[in-house]
Amino acid sequence: MVRAYVALGANLGDAAAALRRAVQAINSLPRTQVLQSSSLYKTAPLDTDAGGAVAAPGNDYLNAVVEVDTGFSAPDLLDQLQHIEQQAGRERPFRNAPRTLDLDLLLYGSGRIDSACLTVPHPRMMHRAFVLVPLAEIAPDLVSAAQLAAVAQQRIEKLGWPDA
Ligand code: ADP
Ligand code: MG
Repeated sequence: MVRAYVALGANLGDAAAALRRAVQAINSLPRTQVLQSSSLYKTAPLDTDAGGAVAAPGNDYLNAVVEVDTGFSAPDLLDQLQHIEQQAGRERPFRNAPRTLDLDLLLYGSGRIDSACLTVPHPRMMHRAFVLVPLAEIAPDLVSAAQLAAVAQQRIEKLGWPDA
C-alpha cells in the first residue's frame, strides 16, 4: 500500500454534495482507504497556471484534500479518479472551465513521475492555497511554514462539512 494525497474541487451545482460523494467513491475503490479528510474550504477561483495566482471569473470553489492508502499504481489511481470525475458529470469544454468535480493526485508516496498524462508531485500544488492549506491540516509535516506564507494572500475560508 502507498500513502497518497488527492485534492478535490468543485464550483458547479451542489459542490459540497459532489465532494462528499467523491470522498465516499474514493473510499469505495478496491484496495483503497481514505484515512483522513480535511475540512471543506471555500476559495475564490484563480488562474494559477502562470505560476502566480491571478483572479479568474466564475463561482467560488469548494476544496478539500484526502489522505489515502492505495494498492493502485499512480497511473491506475489517476484512471480511477478520472472515472469518478466522469460519474459526477465532469466536462472539459475549455481549459480551467468551471467543474462539477476535479480530482488531482498531489502526492504518491515519495514517487516522482513525469509522463505525458501524469506529473507527481502535482506541479502546481505549491502555488495553490486551496491545496496547501487543507493538506497542511491533515499532514502538517508535508507543508512548510514558508510554503504556506507564499500563498497567504490567497483568500480561503474554512467551512465545516454540511450535514448530509
Ligand atoms: P486541472 O486539474 O489542471 O484543472 P484537468 O483536471 O482537466 O485540469 O486535468 C488535465 C490533465 O492533467 C489530465 O488529463 C491528466 O492527465 C493531467 N495530469 C497530470 N498530472 C496530474 C495529476 N498529478 N493529477 C491529476 N491530473 C494530472
Ligand atoms: Mg484535474
